[in-house]
Amino acid sequence: MSDQKKNNKLTTASGRFYVENDNSKTVGPRGPILLEDYILHEKMAHFNRERIPERVVHAKGSGAFGTFTVTNDITKFTKAKLFNKLGKKTKVFARFSTVGGEKGSADTERDPRGFAVKFYTEDGNWDLVGNNTPVFFVKDPKKFGDFIHTQKRDPYTNCKSPTMMWDYWSLNPESLHQVLILMSDRGTPDGYRHMNGYGSHTFSMLNARNERVYVKFHFKTAQGIKNLTDKEAAEMKSRDMDYSQRDLLESIDRGEFPKWNLKMQVMTVEESKKVDFNPFDLTKIWSHGDFPLMDVGVMELNQNPDNYFRDVEQSAFAPAHVVDGIGYSPDKMLQGRLLSYPDAHRYRLGTNYEQLPVNACPYAVNNYQRDGSVRMDTNGGKAPNYWPNSFDQIEIDESYSEPSEDLGDSISDWYDRNSKIGDNDHYSQPRALFRDVMTKEEQDNTINNVIGAMGGITGPKKKDIIYRQLCHWFRMDEEFGSRVAKGLNIDVNAVMGAMGEMH
Ligand code: NDP
Repeated sequence: MSDQKKNNKLTTASGRFYVENDNSKTVGPRGPILLEDYILHEKMAHFNRERIPERVVHAKGSGAFGTFTVTNDITKFTKAKLFNKLGKKTKVFARFSTVGGEKGSADTERDPRGFAVKFYTEDGNWDLVGNNTPVFFVKDPKKFGDFIHTQKRDPYTNCKSPTMMWDYWSLNPESLHQVLILMSDRGTPDGYRHMNGYGSHTFSMLNARNERVYVKFHFKTAQGIKNLTDKEAAEMKSRDMDYSQRDLLESIDRGEFPKWNLKMQVMTVEESKKVDFNPFDLTKIWSHGDFPLMDVGVMELNQNPDNYFRDVEQSAFAPAHVVDGIGYSPDKMLQGRLLSYPDAHRYRLGTNYEQLPVNACPYAVNNYQRDGSVRMDTNGGKAPNYWPNSFDQIEIDESYSEPSEDLGDSISDWYDRNSKIGDNDHYSQPRALFRDVMTKEEQDNTINNVIGAMGGITGPKKKDIIYRQLCHWFRMDEEFGSRVAKGLNIDVNAVMGAMGEMH
């Protein structure tokens, strides 16, 4: 290694200097090639293994390093050390992504965007792994794989299929809120710098007295929201597939560092029991009026990774990675992701993925996990590999213990219909977004985008799927439903009739 560094001479992976990097070792000038040309074999073999499994979701992404700075005192809610002083700075790595496309897909596809941030805190790495929308398509992780299949390729045609997508959404009315946001201009953000990020799930915060509150996190872009219209997004797809990657990279290279203001909503445990909706339902937001946003800090991205694969492709975020003072909640989707994200990384990157430079905690990591493929650290050296033992100095600090949480309920495969009033209302929140938040122009664009997208439904079940989805739009807002029906050349009265039959 030191010779390589000193000499800059070409070497094999094992460090042997070599001379011939263009011509294989052959019998005479015209070949054949000798088996002993190990260097040729090494070059080809390594090349064959360059690709690692693509992420099943969020495969196409961009990332950068930066800093998080505390701007408001939230210590009454959390003892997390990264928040314990105004002005305190913590190094971060953020990765943005599309969701459904493959690694080479276009950045401007209509799709939610992943918004994941790793905070390298002194108490361990905290990963806030959300999207650019505050809600999601499903509220139970058992549905996740089925839902994602509908966003990927049809098993027969190997093409994306609006029929699969709308079939699924129309059969899962809980998707409506997220579908509305997806179909709005925010479904095609103008790069990654001009969109908000949301932790989306409900998390806990615990203060120094171990008192719990529930929180939701929001990253508000300081660059302002900017979206592409459907037409602009489609044009950009043919002009520059990597638009968002280029935009983020070049802005940081120019010294224009994008910033986001981190804010949060707080709900007490008592309030969580009284609100007339399930505060742990990922298809619902907490109204800003009832739970106002409070400032937390500012994230600035100011350093591009030197090597995309090393840091962006190998980055691995997991909602399970929280730190002292931040905890989980009963949010079912969060609970599912706690297990599935680390599991996905172990498959994609290997057992020791947390030792890769971008994922490694820069502070002490002490435990008895040993060995496994591609172990990169000292593997515990000579120290014992079992607990308890009489030899090492590793100790447990009781001050980090989490308080108990009283759930007081029975175990069952709970159906939503058994839940409290409000949990099955999939229409009020999208209705509020459409009627009260969107401008007239956003409303018009959203309706046109829905007409365009539903226009892609084909096949023998076309009418059923369209009618079923139109019923959901009508329940949300009659004018919305009528305009979509009209745009699809469907008789509104026929849909109304069908609505009666569909209860
Ligand atoms: P508010 O008017 O207080 O908040 C509305 C929020 O909607 C703002 O955060 C705004 O984000 C965001 N927004 C504006 N236009 C769009 C759009 N086209 N697509 C998605 N989000 C948009 O109302 P409420 O808190 O009572 O919520 C009303 C509805 O707004 C909700 O049902 C939900 O659909 C949507 N919403 C609510 C959020 C929340 O956490 N309360 C967060 C995001 C959406 P910005 O400030 O960046 O413009």
